[in-house]
Amino acid sequence: MEKREARRRIVLVPISAQGHVTPMLQLGKALYSKGFSITVVEGHFNQVSSSSQHFPGFQFVTIKESLRESDQGGIGFMIKLNKTSEASFKDCIVQLLLQQGSDIACIIYDEFMYFCGAAAKEFNLPSVIFSTESATNYVSCCVLSKLNADKFSVDMEDPGMQEKMVENLYPPLRYKDLPTSGFGPLEDLFELCREVANKRTASAVIINTVSCLENSSLSWLEQKIGIPMYAIGPLHNMTDSAPSSLLEDDRSCIDWLNRQKPRSVIYVSMGTVVQMETKEVLEMAWGLCNSNQPFLWVIRPRSCPGFNGIESLPKEVSKMISERGYIVKRAPQIEVLGHLAVGGFWTHCGWNSTLESIAEGVPMICRPFHGEQKLNAMYIESVWRIGFQVEGSKVDRGEVERAVKRLMVDEEGAEMQERALVLKEKLKASMKSGGTSYNAFDELVKYLKTM
Ligand code: UDP
Repeated sequence: MEKREARRRIVLVPISAQGHVTPMLQLGKALYSKGFSITVVEGHFNQVSSSSQHFPGFQFVTIKESLRESDQGGIGFMIKLNKTSEASFKDCIVQLLLQQGSDIACIIYDEFMYFCGAAAKEFNLPSVIFSTESATNYVSCCVLSKLNADKFSVDMEDPGMQEKMVENLYPPLRYKDLPTSGFGPLEDLFELCREVANKRTASAVIINTVSCLENSSLSWLEQKIGIPMYAIGPLHNMTDSAPSSLLEDDRSCIDWLNRQKPRSVIYVSMGTVVQMETKEVLEMAWGLCNSNQPFLWVIRPRSCPGFNGIESLPKEVSKMISERGYIVKRAPQIEVLGHLAVGGFWTHCGWNSTLESIAEGVPMICRPFHGEQKLNAMYIESVWRIGFQVEGSKVDRGEVERAVKRLMVDEEGAEMQERALVLKEKLKASMKSGGTSYNAFDELVKYLKTM
């Protein structure tokens, strides 16, 4: 009988946040389909293995984490996690090497799980960094890693400095665009940037973006970091999107969408992490209803204090919502964005949501909460011109109503929609044989097979 060639093993190390785990598992699926074995290393929190039935053939292993679940979130947590996980990850690699001989082809780790670099070095294993954010965010991180937090704070009080260009990029990136807001103390952020920008012994970076979206940032990175960059996004278009969430999608919203007119619905979702104040939720509710457009709105449990479903809103508001809109705790977002009835996306501009919206040709209303989301919003508004930002720390119902009408009713919104559809076609072309992402993935697979 013909002897089957053994699969080479790739060890994947995601960070346990939805926006990072999902693309990492999509990458795993794509590599599995090319003949690699996949081992996913996870912590105790938000274990992906709970949805392991969607990843047949994958091995899941858990490493001990000394942090408590309540410590989760924020830059400080990330720095602590890296400081405390190195030893248990090394133990885990020892176990894997004992089980599987020396058959680990490569460790692919999330850019924020940089503790993996030490184990790769110690065991002389090849390693590759995986970035689930935009290339421009990576550029920003490299730039910030070279700055001093105190000096930066003082410099940024000068309007001239705020407008100054960062490096030689096109479209231009100004100092005020650097994603620094909303992450807590600048010193911690700069420390994290220094760690993320340090490539250690990694020999390549895989990035979930598309060359036609961020060509200049990708070239800058390749030059400055000095190792190959594989821009293989959007990963959700490469494999079937298996769920990797602890929360089930509420598919009843698809039946609701089926009853709406083409391109009439505004889809509203703030991702999996953002917290909203009760007042903002109420203003959103009034504004959405006053716009007279049908809306599908995701409100996660515990994303807003005191909100526990539509019943917890004042009676007049919940009555109004049930007439014009539909609320779910979690939606099958990619399917929703691809639905004929959806004409716009009110988003916090997380990178996955941004890519998913572009891939479906859906223009966006941007309501970013922190730096990296603001950078994505800046690209959506000023570079790709497929949406606009709602500014200000608080929004009121009037602004919500005006923004929805601007996107869904006005001529300007129709133009954004047209540009979004052009970009959608470009993304499609990049994933087809001969396209940039297709070729980059092909090269990545060849490269991993040489390891
Ligand atoms: N998502 C989803 N259903 C929801 C809300 C979010 O499927 O109801 C998915 C969405 O498709 C995206 C991810 O969760 O893939 C959110 O990632 P993103 O980077 O946009 O934001 P984050 O949650 O990291 O802030």
